[in-house]
Amino acid sequence: MTSGTFLGIPRRHRHEESPLRGETSFPKAAKTALANDQLRRNLKHATGTIRAKRALVVNEMPDWEQLRDAGAAVKTDVMARMPELLEQFEAKVIERGGVVHWAADAAEANAIVTELVRAQGVSEVIKVKSMATQEIGLNEYLEEQGIAAVETDLAELIVQLGHDKPSHILVPAIHRNRTEVRDIFLSEMTGVVEGLTDEPKQLAMAARSYLRAKFLSAKVAISGTNFGIAETGTVGVVESEGNGRMCVTLPETLITVMGIEKLLPRFEDLEVFLQLLPRSSTGERMNPYTSLWTGVTPGDGPQNFHIVLLDNGRTNALADQVGRAALHCIRCSACLNVCPVYERTGGHAYGSVYPGPIGAVLTPQLTGITGHDDPSASLPYASSLCGACYDVCPVKIPIPDLLVELRARAVDADRSRTIPGGWDAAMRAAAWVMSDAKRFAAVEKTLAVGRLVAGPDKLISTLPPPGSAWTRTRDMPAPPKQTFRQWWKESHPEGSIARSADPADTEQKDGHR
Ligand code: SF4
Repeated sequence: MTSGTFLGIPRRHRHEESPLRGETSFPKAAKTALANDQLRRNLKHATGTIRAKRALVVNEMPDWEQLRDAGAAVKTDVMARMPELLEQFEAKVIERGGVVHWAADAAEANAIVTELVRAQGVSEVIKVKSMATQEIGLNEYLEEQGIAAVETDLAELIVQLGHDKPSHILVPAIHRNRTEVRDIFLSEMTGVVEGLTDEPKQLAMAARSYLRAKFLSAKVAISGTNFGIAETGTVGVVESEGNGRMCVTLPETLITVMGIEKLLPRFEDLEVFLQLLPRSSTGERMNPYTSLWTGVTPGDGPQNFHIVLLDNGRTNALADQVGRAALHCIRCSACLNVCPVYERTGGHAYGSVYPGPIGAVLTPQLTGITGHDDPSASLPYASSLCGACYDVCPVKIPIPDLLVELRARAVDADRSRTIPGGWDAAMRAAAWVMSDAKRFAAVEKTLAVGRLVAGPDKLISTLPPPGSAWTRTRDMPAPPKQTFRQWWKESHPEGSIARSADPADTEQKDGHR
């Protein structure tokens, strides 16, 4: 497997600051998150609710597996024909009156968007929730340039007003509960009525009246897109609130930032993805609002349409087998909602705008890895490898396999080390013990000592190094009174079970396994 991303190679580069890269490693950040009981309660409730809704609507689809296969096949085709499809898409957008811009990285994309906004002579824009613009830190960049970007998606607005960071791909404020949202509105939102309660209806009404004024005065809107269709030059946003539709229809100028992997070859491919996406993401049969626009339509909707096609590490990822598979992602967030690691730590621990299982693969691919101390290098280990993410992924991305491959690359990158680390020494010692039955039996006997340090709950919570690496974050069950071998010897005094000497009999038994 060739790789454009190098994991585990110790280089002394300074990490580039980016909304894709965290400041601390996942284990450190996760420890802080795990100590926050309120956060864990909020996450457990929210992910549990979405999981149940998704399971219900997916189970009622008899052809769900075929749909997943179709989605995966379309994405494989897109990755194989990316240059050709991008050119086709560009030609169609221009043909329909749009303007296409190409951005190699975040800096280029931010500069292009800022110039387009300035050209309209405004200092405030409205925004539809967009992962691509979060990835490039567009809001922060615009703010530095004296342009205010107002998020119109409710959850995104909560994050923005709370001076917070998103914690989930789809539900950025998943880590907040209703009372926290009410407090944020009261302290940060202009024109909020006194006595606002945490009733969802009241909170929604407060956000609606705040945003309505913004919609009606905005001259420029910025959006992301869920899909860009090469055949027609159409782009589209799917959402639940209708705020996105206001953004893409009311202002005079619409600027869309699209990651180049968002392409679909044909308009009819939407048939597959508009079934897969809402069921996987919000557990709805259909998303309430699907807005599609193609270039400019005189007298209807924005009269200036610009699209910024964003690379930002994607072509590097495309050149790598793991990265290419990760680019299939349609950002439904189903893998986050089933992940036991995400459910306990939340999205901030991943340090990237792409958290959860797919973030653990995609982030290192997009950022590259500068060395062991790069926070992105810790992400492939942020998984129990239970496989739940693969089971729910609507485009069948084999996330656990990709994580294992990334871990293997990290190990391979270290093989040339002359001085073994603690982990190498532990593994060598384990191999020496396990390669000899007598040695293994002797070590087994010493394990019984562990019973002495266990508490009344039969758990060991503190071990000296190197065992402390485990007990710092997890308890260890006390060893049983008897080892398996001791039990076997006692309960089978006649020795091992006699196996039939007749090869035919053995073959038949094996066949029944
Ligand atoms: S990896 Fe799959 S399940 Fe996870 S967000 Fe992407 S498409 Fe959804």
